Amino acid sequence: MKEKIDTLRSMIDGSDNIVFFGGAGVSTESGIPDFRSTSGLYNQEYKYPPEEIISHSFFMRDPEEFYRFYRNKMVCLDAKPNAAHFKLAELESKGKLRAVVTQNIDNLHQLAGSKCVHELHGSVFRNYCTRCGKFYTAEYIMQSAGIPRCDCGGTIKPDVVLYEEVLDQLVLRKSIQAIQEADVLIIGGTSLVVYPAAGLLQYYLGNKLILINKTELPQESRAALVIHGKIGEIMSQI
Ligand code: NAD
Repeated sequence: MKEKIDTLRSMIDGSDNIVFFGGAGVSTESGIPDFRSTSGLYNQEYKYPPEEIISHSFFMRDPEEFYRFYRNKMVCLDAKPNAAHFKLAELESKGKLRAVVTQNIDNLHQLAGSKCVHELHGSVFRNYCTRCGKFYTAEYIMQSAGIPRCDCGGTIKPDVVLYEEVLDQLVLRKSIQAIQEADVLIIGGTSLVVYPAAGLLQYYLGNKLILINKTELPQESRAALVIHGKIGEIMSQI
């Protein structure tokens, strides 16, 4: 492991055009469960499978049940950034990291100080009225009961990309551009199975791909460096 950390350090030292692409595994050390680990949300029992509850058609059909799951499992306002979030923010402030592309919706990169964050799947911190467009905070959603309503009576929806919904095209374009132009691409804490986000790897043109994940990934043969372990623990050694 020491050798791998040394290689990671020298690859980071040698570049001022690093892009990080991450997923739910980046926030598990902040106490937010991912989806596909053994302790993740997909391995717990609910009335409906989580991927069904957080789909567009389910939100339209049963917003009350959607919000019950959403408030209990998807929003974690007390979570604090961990060493991985802080290290990425530090690398950006030193002019080495150009962008964070994240599938997470938890705002922890911004809380750690990252400025250039492309949120592919939106954020629980933004919520809007589906009738008049007025925005509401995450606190408003958490303090309301049942289906949160706007002053105008419309249903409020989280600004989060649900299954069956398309990604924000501007965010997607900026993410693709950052990855295309990256010298070093670090991918961490993602199972790389949720498309179209997972397909972004194909836009990377360089030969310094680093994968940091707790478990093995099928894409490992493409990587210059693969480290299995907890990303917060690993990044804190850089
Ligand atoms: P995933 O649950 O499919 O995969 C997470 C991966 O991270 C797994 O391979 C796991 O082994 C690994 N992992 C877990 N903890 C880790 C750690 N400490 N260090 C390194 N690796 C670790 O997550 P995904 O690929 O991001 O896809 C799930 C979707 O769910 C995403 O679209 C995301 O929007 C959403 N989601 C977001 C959050 C969040 O915002 N924190 C939480 C759960 C799910």
